[in-house]
Amino acid sequence: MIRLENISKTYRTGEVEVVALNDVSLSVEPGEFIAIMGPSGSGKSTLLHILGFLDRPDSGDYIIYDRNASRLADSELANLRNQLAGFVFQQFHLLRRMSALNNVYLPSIYGGDFGAVHKDAMQRLRAVGLESRASHRPNELSGGEQQRVAIARALINDPMILFADEPTGNLDSKSGHDIMAILKSLNEQGKTIIMVTHEPEIALHATRVITMRDGRIVSDERKGKTAPAEKVRRTIKDILLAKRSALNKKELIGYFRQAMGTILANRVRSFLSMLGILVGVAAVIAMLALGSGAKASIAERLETLGSNLLSVRGGSSRHRGVARGADAVTRFTFHDVAAIKSLSPLIRNVTGTVSGSAQAVYQNENWNTRVQGVGYDYGELRATVPEVGRWFTENEITKRAKVTVIGTTVLDKLFGDANPIGKTIKLNRINFKVIGIAPVKGSMGPRDQDDTVYIPVTTAMYRLLGKDYLDGMYVEVSDPESMGLAQRRIKELIKKQHRLYKDEDTFHIRDMSEIQEILSGTMKTMSTLLGIIAAISLLVGGIGIMNIMLVSVTERTREIGLRKAIGARKIDILAQFLIESMVMTLAGGLLGVLIGSMVAASLSFFAGWAVRVTVFSIILATTFSIVVGLFFGMWPAKKASQLDPVEALRYE
Ligand code: ADP
Repeated sequence: MIRLENISKTYRTGEVEVVALNDVSLSVEPGEFIAIMGPSGSGKSTLLHILGFLDRPDSGDYIIYDRNASRLADSELANLRNQLAGFVFQQFHLLRRMSALNNVYLPSIYGGDFGAVHKDAMQRLRAVGLESRASHRPNELSGGEQQRVAIARALINDPMILFADEPTGNLDSKSGHDIMAILKSLNEQGKTIIMVTHEPEIALHATRVITMRDGRIVSDERKGKTAPAEKVRRTIKDILLAKRSALNKKELIGYFRQAMGTILANRVRSFLSMLGILVGVAAVIAMLALGSGAKASIAERLETLGSNLLSVRGGSSRHRGVARGADAVTRFTFHDVAAIKSLSPLIRNVTGTVSGSAQAVYQNENWNTRVQGVGYDYGELRATVPEVGRWFTENEITKRAKVTVIGTTVLDKLFGDANPIGKTIKLNRINFKVIGIAPVKGSMGPRDQDDTVYIPVTTAMYRLLGKDYLDGMYVEVSDPESMGLAQRRIKELIKKQHRLYKDEDTFHIRDMSEIQEILSGTMKTMSTLLGIIAAISLLVGGIGIMNIMLVSVTERTREIGLRKAIGARKIDILAQFLIESMVMTLAGGLLGVLIGSMVAASLSFFAGWAVRVTVFSIILATTFSIVVGLFFGMWPAKKASQLDPVEALRYE
């Protein structure tokens, strides 16, 4: 079955070379029970590791059936470890967070096509007399019982050869005896067993004793009859060719469960490492909720303005209506208003406005607010006709009357709960009679539209602000379809009126969709800022996750070694740790979604901000947190997957 030819293995630690195996040749027949003996350091374990596909020789050939194992790829060796070999170690190497039953079942998740089913695990436990302990954790079992579980695990995939490294080394003599009885009966059933031991009475159970010294075989005695070998169930070719999809469902579910188990077992630690992700995701959720809430309320408000409104302003459009430096600004007059009005029936209505700011005073209350000088038509055009009180009359507007319609914020600041209608307030020391309260308009972007007072445009120009021109005009176009035409005609008209023959950029016309764009631009800047904060906390959170995963890999080095010994390939280990870090970041992400939504909800409740948590933002945040787990878990997982099985098993 096995032929070793001139196997050598040398360990180098710095300058020192230790020859662990020196030109060892050996053949093993099916059904043999071999005890490898010899003083400590003579190379027994090294030989066993090579025989068990856990290690490779430096030179020589290892022929198993008709294959040369020294030439197989890592993943093929993993297949052989899983299907052909079973391992029993001195330290048992059971995974302490799993029940005995799950420990027994563990190798079959790496078994691909040949993987055993769960009830086989129970059968194996029954065979070693531990059925009643199936749900116990290893720390609830005695040493002898743990070793029996380990034997059941070694047998789950029905291997051809059982490798045992000092299987009784950590046991009292009674338990040791039980273990040997089990091994002996397994051998009698035809299982090939290769065991390392330094106790002569243990070696007595074997049918062949090989003694080693200084890396060489010094004696090889056959003592008993070789048991009739069991028949070959799977050829090595089958095993090597056995399909193992990169990751099967059984494995994935197992890793997921295990990840949850690990996270729950280290609750505080896991929570602290999730914190960064949690804050990042909560920020993303709250930010998007605010953004889309504001957008929705702006859109709603613009809707009420009508889609056929044009705004004509002085100044360059490049500066979003704010005139700067040497830019020439067209100053509109009532002639312009009249001229545009003559474009009827293309346009339905036009009104000029002028704006500035003023100190509003009522009794002891004092408030700085925006003043808008408006024409009669503004009321209809911009939905500003009061529901309480009245709008200006045409007469008041031409007569420069000192009357005002106040916004609700101003009402609040000056009057509190008192009725303002008919009262007199001072605007920049001039008395104005309050005739109405403007309907609530809410805020548009950062500007509170209710923090304003309306007065007749003439009063504003000539009495209050001292301007002899209009800042802008609102034009209502008759038909939304002809917005473009109206814009062009108005442009021509103004150019003619102001003799702007060159293509000067001294005024601009916008329709409401453009205004909406400008506002959402402001929102975008805010969102970008919050987005940067979110990105930074996701980055910091990711590094936290990476850190904790590195700790986890180190802590579980022996577990990784064991998993490799029972047939896990690199990709299996990689997947296990990646899934763990992704589950961790996903959990952080979901908590973040919850907290972010709560923050958004309380902002809307306490501060009255418009918020809207969208499904899109939840999906985005969740995806992001998984990606962070994948990205920052990669390095630790890679590190874990590249561990050498023998070294990992020995790790203290
Ligand atoms: P045994 O099992 O008979 O006690 P081993 O096979 O464990 O012996 O070791 C054989 C020799 O190789 C010993 O001298 C040991 O110190 C050395 N050795 C084993 N593993 C390593 C290693 N990973 N690095 C360096 N030396 C090693």
